[in-house]
Amino acid sequence: MPVNSTTPRPSDLDTISLQLSRPVRDVVEIPARCVCGNPLVAATAPRLSNGIPFPTTFYLTHPAATAAVSRLEAAGVMAEMSQRLTTDEQLAESYRQAHENYLTERERIRSEAGLDPVWEIEGVSAGGMPERVKCLHVLAGHALAVGPGINPLGDETLELISGSWTPETCICATSWDHEAPVPQRDLSRHVRRANQGFARQQPPSRAEDPHQGAPASQRDTETA
Ligand SMILES: [Zn+2]
Repeated sequence: MPVNSTTPRPSDLDTISLQLSRPVRDVVEIPARCVCGNPLVAATAPRLSNGIPFPTTFYLTHPAATAAVSRLEAAGVMAEMSQRLTTDEQLAESYRQAHENYLTERERIRSEAGLDPVWEIEGVSAGGMPERVKCLHVLAGHALAVGPGINPLGDETLELISGSWTPETCICATSWDHEAPVPQRDLSRHVRRANQGFARQQPPSRAEDPHQGAPASQRDTETA
């Protein structure tokens, strides 16, 4: 299988588990890879196998990328981007289209995975789209998954971190412990954590939670 295949191999799932330091589940595609072939983004089923709806379809997994994006968030970039969305109509329109693309891609992934529609997250994307910016990891993951020119703020996020990390330059060897034991599944804990996560992302908390779609929060390493 070529290294650019989107089909997850068992070794990809092990790699992602090592990248995230937790077992992954319900990964149905690898939509973006490092030049070396390692996963950069995991596409997760819109409904987890334990029944929980999961709105964050594209999840940034590479530790160097996630760390660089976290630094941007800490620097206040999200507030600045959100502000620009209120004044730059062209940007706002592109961002709305990115939201639509996110939903379209999720629907494609759902269909190809043979899953039933997930009514709970109908019309709900992630990362604050379409009106706000609440998680740059989500936007960067989307931009990596679908390529440039779709999510303007995801593209911008990747540009802003390009001094630390880019998909064209492999720094995988130093980005996580490749020799560590692969985190194994513990389903009972998964279910409990996933349920807690879903409870946190119920409306109306969506407006306040800076990382709405809590099961997929990049900061909460105990869920997702
Ligand atoms: Zn690499």
